[in-house]
Amino acid sequence: MSASLAERLSLVQEGIAEAARNAGRDVNDLTTIVVTKFHPAQLVRDLYDLGVRNVGENRHQEAEAKAAELSELDLTWHFIGQLQSNKARAARKYASVVHSVDRPSLVTALGNAAFTPEGEPENNIVEVLDCFVQLNLTQDPARGGVQPADVVELAELVAAQPSLNLLGVMAVAPLDEEPRVAFARVRAASERVQTVIPSATYISTGMSHDYAAAISEGATHLRIGSAITGNRPVSG
Ligand SMILES: *Cc1c(COP(=O)(O)O)cnc(C)c1O
Repeated sequence: MSASLAERLSLVQEGIAEAARNAGRDVNDLTTIVVTKFHPAQLVRDLYDLGVRNVGENRHQEAEAKAAELSELDLTWHFIGQLQSNKARAARKYASVVHSVDRPSLVTALGNAAFTPEGEPENNIVEVLDCFVQLNLTQDPARGGVQPADVVELAELVAAQPSLNLLGVMAVAPLDEEPRVAFARVRAASERVQTVIPSATYISTGMSHDYAAAISEGATHLRIGSAITGNRPVSG
């Protein structure tokens, strides 16, 4: 019999706790985001019943639909995929955190989306959206994110937007590199960002197969999908 959702979730939680112990870190400093992309809203509901409150999605339309369907649940939605600038306003309506801020035009679009076209704050107060800037650890521009050399400049653009709060840096480990080596480069980039924006201390790294390495290199936000949800249905 295959493991149930509850069993997979608790196995991953134990794995995270063990990796934190091995790294001499407090597990309470780690936020686990369960990535529910391609899965139906019912799976998110089941996760909620198991105590999950942070969920991640990488496609805007799918995320928007699920967040609407589950609006009565007290969930924090993390957007982790490539986002078109013309979807920035819609994404701000459900996402509490955008992990994938990867270019100046998206910073501007997300920043402006807190305001009406007349420049008034939406709902009369400037709501602040938490963001990570995404690093590309490969030479392939299709992978999304900025090169490490450009990360401080992008971080400064985010920090300059009154409606955006920079949490830190995010990355996906390349397939052809030891994850811990790649995550050490993320930590170095994070330290450079913190020299100009000291509050941007968070690091979003670590997926199903590499979260232990990510925790060793300072990850604070883990984005874990298949190890918890099981295999993703084929995308429609
Ligand atoms: C899908 C996805 C994840 C989760 O991947 P798993 O290998 O299923 O854990 C994490 N981060 C991003 C950006 C993703 O697109």
